[in-house]
Amino acid sequence: MDDFRYDVVWRRIRRDEYAKKLEGKFQFRYDRLAKLVNWGALSWLYAHATASKQAHHLGVEHNAMRFLSAGPPARSRHRASLRTAAHVLHWGHPPLSYQSAEGLLRAAHVKSEIRVVLETIVKEVIDFGSLKCDQPDHDGRCAPAVLEGERPFELYRWLAAWTVKDEWSRLWEAIVDAESAAGREAPKPRSRKRH
Ligand SMILES: [Zn+2]
Repeated sequence: MDDFRYDVVWRRIRRDEYAKKLEGKFQFRYDRLAKLVNWGALSWLYAHATASKQAHHLGVEHNAMRFLSAGPPARSRHRASLRTAAHVLHWGHPPLSYQSAEGLLRAAHVKSEIRVVLETIVKEVIDFGSLKCDQPDHDGRCAPAVLEGERPFELYRWLAAWTVKDEWSRLWEAIVDAESAAGREAPKPRSRKRH
């Protein structure tokens, strides 16, 4: 199992070499998370609510790795994809985090221009990932539920995936580099239907 990478002085999880290598290629996105307060506007009310999204992000990535290491060996098949998801998941948080996400969804109810922007983002992610999220028999109702404002806490994931879509070729190179540097066989691209 990975070492527990806790820095007792700064009270946060340290990045390992893999994380530094992969996220180092997207330094702006990593640094941005340090400026985002995890609790959004709550930090205006509570002076101690200052934890950054970056601190949260480091914890998520570390827990994802421990989950993989602790499980049956079959889990390692998902190592690169789960690890990448942990590294990019928080890229999509708007300023003030969930409050802005909810604000955007509320604005989309009264302003068609905003609704069109959000619908376009969700559609582009669905196309890019060849997802079934907008089909009526899709159990999760992921796309309609987020667009109708039922799950404001999920909007950041769509925004993150949309960013990943734009960064995909650089991100793919970064994953291959990080995996090879860690001594593992580089992942191979799956054939994609539409991209
Ligand atoms: Zn879905």
